[in-house]
Amino acid sequence: MASFIATLARIVFGPRPEILCHAAVWRAGVAELRRRGGGHRESGAFLLGTKGTTRRIEEFVFYDDIDPDALSSGIVEIDGRRLGDLWSHCRATGRTVVADVHVHPGGFQQSDSDKANPIIAEIGHIAMILPDFAAKATLPGAIGVFEYRGARQWRDRSLERPSALHVGWWPWR
Ligand SMILES: [Zn+2]
Repeated sequence: MASFIATLARIVFGPRPEILCHAAVWRAGVAELRRRGGGHRESGAFLLGTKGTTRRIEEFVFYDDIDPDALSSGIVEIDGRRLGDLWSHCRATGRTVVADVHVHPGGFQQSDSDKANPIIAEIGHIAMILPDFAAKATLPGAIGVFEYRGARQWRDRSLERPSALHVGWWPWR
């Protein structure tokens, strides 16, 4: 109920979210990240959806489904040559990569490797990080939200209130 009232307040007073995700889609995706990480290695997913004035996350596509070796080293590494399947899936569903998410063992700050290797090197792209292998905090306000600024520079938006990411019900696109 408290979160419903917060949503109503946000609808009236703004700012509108930049990225939306239905609670059920988010919950299921996060649970799967937690399962795949098994509490001992990083896991991650491309977040697919539609882009309008607001980006909407509709689907998690897990890194290890695109590249079976993506999780083997313990930190997420995707072989770019395997991305063909992702692009054909995007074409088939009419979706695009609207953000990405991965889990970390400890806090939600970006590693040097995260900063140097954006999953999608596009200005404005949002990368999210769930701390503690997604076993504890998984909602905006307590997770990492980073916006790519180009040239390996990022804007840390994790602590913005309200968050750029809204998980839950929202009345329009
Ligand atoms: Zn990382």
